Amino acid sequence: MPELPFTDEHEELRESIRRFVAAELRPHANEWEDAHWFPDEVFQRFAEHGFLGLKYPQEYGGEGGDYLHEAVLAEELARCGSGGLAAGVGAHVNIATPPIWKFGTDEQKQRYLAPAIRGEAIGALAITEPDAGSDVAGIRTQARRVDGGWVVNGSKMFITNGVRAHFYVTAVKTTGEGGHHGLSFLLVDKQDGVKASAIEKLGWHASDTGLIAFEDVFVPEESLLGRENEGFYLIMANFQWERLLMALGAVGAMQVAYDKTVAFARERTAFGKPLTKHQALRHKLTDVATTLHAGRCVTYDALRRFAAGEDAVKEVTMAKLVTQRACFDVMDTCLQIHGGAGYMREYEIERMARDARLGPIGGGTDEIMKEILGKVLGL
Ligand SMILES: Cc1cc2nc3c(=O)[nH]c(=O)nc-3n(C[C@H](O)[C@H](O)[C@H](O)COP(=O)(O)OP(=O)(O)OC[C@H]3O[C@@H](n4cnc5c(N)ncnc54)[C@H](O)[C@@H]3O)c2cc1C
Repeated sequence: MPELPFTDEHEELRESIRRFVAAELRPHANEWEDAHWFPDEVFQRFAEHGFLGLKYPQEYGGEGGDYLHEAVLAEELARCGSGGLAAGVGAHVNIATPPIWKFGTDEQKQRYLAPAIRGEAIGALAITEPDAGSDVAGIRTQARRVDGGWVVNGSKMFITNGVRAHFYVTAVKTTGEGGHHGLSFLLVDKQDGVKASAIEKLGWHASDTGLIAFEDVFVPEESLLGRENEGFYLIMANFQWERLLMALGAVGAMQVAYDKTVAFARERTAFGKPLTKHQALRHKLTDVATTLHAGRCVTYDALRRFAAGEDAVKEVTMAKLVTQRACFDVMDTCLQIHGGAGYMREYEIERMARDARLGPIGGGTDEIMKEILGKVLGL
């Protein structure tokens, strides 16, 4: 094990989250994956345990914890048996609400953050558009100034919680040109003029990934989040945390896959001996264990730096880059070791492989991570 960034208190939280996941989420994973939906009440169950507000101040109903508490939740959610469920809760806690916490007025925090922590209002972060993903500055959704606020027109693509969300933390153009100095964030309530539909996808089945259309949606002045035309800064501000969370989720998922596959390989025999006694398969498992350990070391190093307030762009970017493709490769190896069973639903490795494929794409693609690293390294 690398030097753990966690204290005994964080480990106690881990035990309680692990019990919650095993008792209340894991048993429903198949049902929710089949339904391509998990009930909204799940958010309230999380909230009752304080798990939607671990890092948020108590004055808004949070637990007053730190980033490491949240990191424990991200790792443990990997045990729930559904990447989509982990993604839906993760998007609410880790990408939709942090900008409100960091940039919101007290009134905005009371109106959005507090009910989000109570599990009563579900949030989504709406940045990506049909014609702008990696090129964040290229978004086109337009907010036109009118008396008392803005009128928003445009569309957003691939938005996690996009269908179920009660509010959207939405990136819009507030100048004609948009770009780095012409974007702002608006808190947009679900209302007439906001149309959301689910998009079918390879994995994350329990999560609703939405295509959202805004048609003449009025957003009042007081719903501007942060400063006008400084939205690009706000987008960048949470990227490190989002990417770190993805790295932690991948480490958690690789651990689950390793444990599951070792148990299977010890039990299953071929040519008169357990699979683990065949050198080629044993080597595959040692490769997985090594990849997992390396991914965890890099991720915990980035987490420790980030939690200490250091500029950890390089370490976080490397952690995101190294863990996401590795996680998918690990799932593929584990699936192969399961043989035909790996292709079957019952063993859940096929789902884990499908769910892991999003990693090198979401939260900034592997190619974009390399571009960032190229700059940080002065190449
Ligand atoms: C399941 C799912 C959930 C998501 N949830 C959300 C969400 O909640 N909120 C949200 O706002 N977004 C969300 N996204 C969007 C996600 O962040 C984008 O899909 C991602 O950033 C990539 O953007 P894109 O799909 O437009 O691909 P593009 O930007 O069109 O990229 C296409 C390909 O070109 C490569 N490429 C692009 N530019 C360069 C370059 N300069 N150099 C080299 N290669 C490059 C990319 O790496 C990629 O391989 C989600 C996506 C998915 C699939």
